[in-house]
Amino acid sequence: MTEGIAHQALYRRWRAQTFSEIVGQEAVVATLRNAVLTGRVAHAILFTGPRGTGKTSLARILAKAVNCSNLAPNGDPCDRCPACVSIREGRALDLVEIDAASNRGIDSIRDLRDRLAYAPQDLRRKVYILDEAHQITKDGWNALLKSLEEPPEFVTFMFASTHPQDFPPAILSRVQRFDVRRFTVAEIVGKLDRILAADGRDVDPEAVRLVARLAAGGMRDAESILDQLLSSTSGRIEAEDVRDLLGLADAESVRGYLVALVSGDAASGISVLDGLEERGRDLRVFLDQTVEALRDRMLDDVGAGRPVEPAVVSAARRLAAIDTSRLGAGGLRLQLELALLDASIPSSASPPPLPAPGPGSPGAAGQAAATPASARGAEPAVEHRVAPEAASPAVPTKAAVPAPATPRAKATAAPKQEPPAQLSPAAAPGAEPATPGADDLERLRHGWPHVISIIGANPSLRPLILDCRPIGVEANVVTLAFPEEKAFFKDVAERRRSNLETGLAQFLGHDVGVRCVATNFELVPPLPSDVDEARILDEAHRIFAEDLADVPEIT
Ligand SMILES: [Zn+2]
Repeated sequence: MTEGIAHQALYRRWRAQTFSEIVGQEAVVATLRNAVLTGRVAHAILFTGPRGTGKTSLARILAKAVNCSNLAPNGDPCDRCPACVSIREGRALDLVEIDAASNRGIDSIRDLRDRLAYAPQDLRRKVYILDEAHQITKDGWNALLKSLEEPPEFVTFMFASTHPQDFPPAILSRVQRFDVRRFTVAEIVGKLDRILAADGRDVDPEAVRLVARLAAGGMRDAESILDQLLSSTSGRIEAEDVRDLLGLADAESVRGYLVALVSGDAASGISVLDGLEERGRDLRVFLDQTVEALRDRMLDDVGAGRPVEPAVVSAARRLAAIDTSRLGAGGLRLQLELALLDASIPSSASPPPLPAPGPGSPGAAGQAAATPASARGAEPAVEHRVAPEAASPAVPTKAAVPAPATPRAKATAAPKQEPPAQLSPAAAPGAEPATPGADDLERLRHGWPHVISIIGANPSLRPLILDCRPIGVEANVVTLAFPEEKAFFKDVAERRRSNLETGLAQFLGHDVGVRCVATNFELVPPLPSDVDEARILDEAHRIFAEDLADVPEIT
């Protein structure tokens, strides 16, 4: 009976179905209501804004509103008439959603142009929602341009995009544009509280605030984190659970290390590091948190017109010099210890020059010091640093080939569409022998359940490793793909890369780097079926935790 029920992601279950259910975005919603009520909805509309802010939700609600047979006086669709219901359930023939990021999407655009002129079948108005529209190719836009100039009376185009600057000007001039903004922390907290109340789960308010801040304005990311917390913890959700999931250090440790760093109390600082390692915290994430906390403190001083203490500046300089890409003996731990010990060396007379970065890692020092612009904002949280947008500011959400996050990973690994078979020696001339990489990939693909058991032994890494798949190995860098609807976890995985690298190295028997991409899983070659069974079993556990509590795991 329960077999047909799939776990539905929170963000889907809690997707707004009417304008009234939209959180925030007051200006956009008011304009849309007015357009609906006056019958002046444009034929081509563009929703732009950061990922996870509700662009396609707005498009679907608008699609309902222009088709609803029982429109509310405030312009809200009724969500009950046949048109509203068929749109909500994804059954409406005349609502066509196209993901322009996929090849299938481009084919669909040619297809839609051919069928554009036919009258609607089950709705009053045919609506085309084109998501990730900035990825539409030149051919695709050419196919659309004429239709946008003279659309049939009964057609509405709705584009959604995180990168409107990539649109051809000829298109931009033909659309009515709505800018959807990031959510505030308060807006996100409000929605998460409603979800938790409906779920009847007890939660530490600090945990909710932490999630809201970490999501950096993306509601879908916030809901994804909460989803993961709800399914991976039982009982009350604590702030510590959030830190566990994301590998964050507690504020107390960050403060303790900073005090030790500034005052030159190496023994206390080292004991903080001991504690972090005992609890399996990622020192790279800890360094980010520490750098950001220190930077906040200096900016506070500067902003208030206070002189920054030389000892603080010196501490910041020592942290900035840390090369996060340096592996091998001591690694990051040793550098964090050296930063503590260096405090005893007088620095005011001649500030030490920035040490030259290690070979092959030109920007490492600068990278450690870099802090996202968002940190300058109102939120004092040190945890800001791990915010998804901040972690990879230049990487489009659905990018096929995001830039490697560390200079060390000079990977030009295979793009996501390429099946492993194309990783032949001929495809990578001149590189490290390509065959070992291909071997590693095959070993990873076939041994993935084993990898899951190694890395998943750490409970906080389990959701990450279960959600990703190996899609490429090149020059000893393993590319892990995450489903784009969980793009947030790609960012989390990037922050915990050293844990993943350790686990993969254990399996492969040699050191490897890791890079993470978010991609359309439909384009990722499936793993051997046993892995899917492991996943399905795990998913079953997740959904029916109680029912299956006594069933031994069959692995
Ligand atoms: Zn309706």
